Amino acid sequence: MRHLALVLSLSVGLSASADADFKPSQRQQVELGKRAAADFRKHEKILPKTDIRVTTLKRVARRLLDTFSDGDKPWEYSFDVVESKEVNAFALPGGPVFFYTGLLEKMKSEDELAAVLAHELVHVRKEHWAYAYRDSMNRSLVLNILLMVGKANDNAANLAGIANELIFELPFSRKHEIEADNLGFDMMTAAGYNPSGMVKVFQTLKAEAKGGGPEWASTHPDDGRRIKNIEARVAKGGKYPALIPMELPKADPKTKKGD
Ligand SMILES: [Zn+2]
Repeated sequence: MRHLALVLSLSVGLSASADADFKPSQRQQVELGKRAAADFRKHEKILPKTDIRVTTLKRVARRLLDTFSDGDKPWEYSFDVVESKEVNAFALPGGPVFFYTGLLEKMKSEDELAAVLAHELVHVRKEHWAYAYRDSMNRSLVLNILLMVGKANDNAANLAGIANELIFELPFSRKHEIEADNLGFDMMTAAGYNPSGMVKVFQTLKAEAKGGGPEWASTHPDDGRRIKNIEARVAKGGKYPALIPMELPKADPKTKKGD
């Protein structure tokens, strides 16, 4: 019995302090994101900076980030386009953002691009990955103590050892998804975009998830209320600027596989 009491007090004491200990700092998020992005670029076909899909992505990003007076420090954003049929986009901790040509090809307006981008920027600036990581660490920490592993988890060692899978695949919580939608909505409207683009592109992503493209759905969970929430906000908002038509080139037929 004494043994059990010791285990319980240890787990309570440590999980109470884990909040501060296990959430990566802003600096650490930037470093982790850069490391994972560099690794990712080595393994994917990244479009050149002069490609119109890249310049368009950067132009829309600039317009969104200009809504912050400080350019949204301390985050270090970068914007890349991956040549791939995958209908997906994601942001890594600290700022690197990747869009797939498969998603860009499905967009009919710049407002749709702004919507996904704004949603991803909120994940970065609200540190959603770091909170998801902290929560996953809390769970495994308590479990470790209960199993009497007895080894102190060292924060610095843990960060160095964070596998890329954990950086790329840790799903956001529904609470964070709603926050990314709502603050993304605010960001895109502040930048002068029409938020009905958010409804359109989320419908596209939802349809893709059903058709066997699970990438976006697996890290951005949707309990079915997200599109309704955005639609309700669009309806309440009154008059918005017209959607900005966008026609980006399809995948380059000259591109050889494995280039
Ligand atoms: Zn999301």
